[in-house]
Amino acid sequence: MSTQTIAGAAQASGQYTTEFPLECRDVGRTFLVGKGFFSEKKTLRAVQNISLKVRRGEVLAVVGESGCGKTTLAKMLLGLLQPSSGEIFMEGMPINEVDIRQIARHVQPVFQDPYSSLNPRKTIESIVSLPLKVHNIGDAESQRKRVEEVLEMCEMPKRLVHSYPSQLSGGQRQRVAIARALVMKPEILVCDEPTSALDVSVQAHILNLLQDLRDELNLTYVFISHNLAVVEHLADTVAVMYLGRLIEYGPKDQIFNDPKHPYTRALLDSFLTPDPTQDVPEIAMGRGFPNPLDPPTGCAFHPRCARVMDVCSKVRPEQTTVNGIKLECHLYPPATQQAAE
Ligand code: SF4
Repeated sequence: MSTQTIAGAAQASGQYTTEFPLECRDVGRTFLVGKGFFSEKKTLRAVQNISLKVRRGEVLAVVGESGCGKTTLAKMLLGLLQPSSGEIFMEGMPINEVDIRQIARHVQPVFQDPYSSLNPRKTIESIVSLPLKVHNIGDAESQRKRVEEVLEMCEMPKRLVHSYPSQLSGGQRQRVAIARALVMKPEILVCDEPTSALDVSVQAHILNLLQDLRDELNLTYVFISHNLAVVEHLADTVAVMYLGRLIEYGPKDQIFNDPKHPYTRALLDSFLTPDPTQDVPEIAMGRGFPNPLDPPTGCAFHPRCARVMDVCSKVRPEQTTVNGIKLECHLYPPATQQAAE
């Protein structure tokens, strides 16, 4: 049986073979970037050596400032971008061996901007039913029923089914985007800042809807966000990224109660309100975010770090584990190094 067939059969039967529907092993992604046709191209290392596992039913939040690589990681998890190095596994299968249609049935995105992610010339019914049509699932009548069902799950009034996106509010558009993501009964949603383009007053409603849908449908979420209030509200596990690297990764409660990496600590210090409807203030960490095309040597965070040491600008810290939290910081040397000292 081919890998593709195994993935398809697993989804069709609802029987999955692994506890971890998504896994990254040492995943990296580079881009060649250059301004003009004749200018020298530079290598942008958008994602570097990311290893993580997404447990079935959990909410993994990937956090960090703009430009830290979290959206690139999300695109790779959706099969929209190939890693330059390392491997991504879906249900234990290398994702590059799974047909893109199978990936789409299994993992669906919810994007940041419901204004640009919905076709303005199509009705809501047509937008939500499109994945069923593309994947040839059911006849017209069953597709219509499924669209009604999924819109109801997303608390959209039935009367809006023949409306166009321009006739809806921002919150209603995001509900339509979520309905479209759910229409094929995926196991995993990758949500890339799903509330950040919305008015503060509707953000909490969308977050509560995502929470309810997760409980009702036993969904697994990868939740990309820079908003720590949202992360605290939803996440089970947190992965903190800085300049393409995973610098702290572990259970949310541990990371929020006792952040170890100086960057995570600074992020949390900047997070003043527990109200998920409020935005997070600018992070105060001295110098701004470095140029990803010309990253600092050693630990990339060293020019901004309050606890910087001599070694930090010279040597990149290796990953270590402290009380179940994975970290990259010289304050926490790997066990082998500790033994040698
Ligand atoms: Fe700060 Fe050094 Fe740790 Fe980097 S390695 S976070 S510069 S203490």
